[in-house]
Amino acid sequence: MRHKIVAGNWKMNKSLEEAKALASEIVRLVADVNNKAKVVLCVPYPYLLPVKELLSDNKKIQVAAQNCSEHESGAYTGEVSAAMLKSMDVPYVILGHSERRQYFGEDGKLLAKKIDKALEHHLSPIFCCGEPLEIREKGTHEALVKRQIEESLFHLSGEILEDRVIIAYEPVWAIGTGKTATSQQAQDMHAVIRKHIVKKYSQSVADNISILYGGSVGAANAKELFASPDVDGGLVGGASLKSKDFTEIIKAIA
Ligand code: PEP
Repeated sequence: MRHKIVAGNWKMNKSLEEAKALASEIVRLVADVNNKAKVVLCVPYPYLLPVKELLSDNKKIQVAAQNCSEHESGAYTGEVSAAMLKSMDVPYVILGHSERRQYFGEDGKLLAKKIDKALEHHLSPIFCCGEPLEIREKGTHEALVKRQIEESLFHLSGEILEDRVIIAYEPVWAIGTGKTATSQQAQDMHAVIRKHIVKKYSQSVADNISILYGGSVGAANAKELFASPDVDGGLVGGASLKSKDFTEIIKAIA
């Protein structure tokens, strides 16, 4: 169902001690935030349990993994399965982040398999889509994002899509660059995604799915980005490593 969500993607950063200190500081600061936003900390695999332990029964903050395998189990050295994440009570997993697409060759077909594995094990995927700069400059960004969604999500039922999947639109040219999309660019693409979902499923599925914006979201621009009607929150990279900035971003949810 549609929720306001702020997810922090820590990527491959922090020592264990630093990770625990950051999570503790976020817990402390977020205790004073009085809105309905859900907060998700997407931490490296080894920190999932320590951070979870630290959150204990926190109602507002949960953890996510940043990836999972498309395989069930077996001889896949270095991989982590959706079943393992579920056995640790991890509720969310990021899938299809542009860094995974770019550096690890993940494509739409593979991501469809990962989505299925995650759902099979009752994890909610945070599915990332978004165009590189050259595609935006060519003007084919809407077609690419629609295709990314078709390839990896459109085999699902409408019920599963609206209940279990979160979409994050992240233009690649805005990730880690300090160059954010304008709120109009974000709103336009979120509306395109919702319209595409209406065409395939129904208005109610499109109305019920949460779509986050990601790409250089910070304390200074979050309020404007989140004010757009089709933007349900953010997937935040760099600024999620700074407890005060991250908390300001959470506060920016109306
Ligand atoms: C991300 O990695 O998903 C991201 C949006 O990063 P940043 O906020 O640093 O651009």
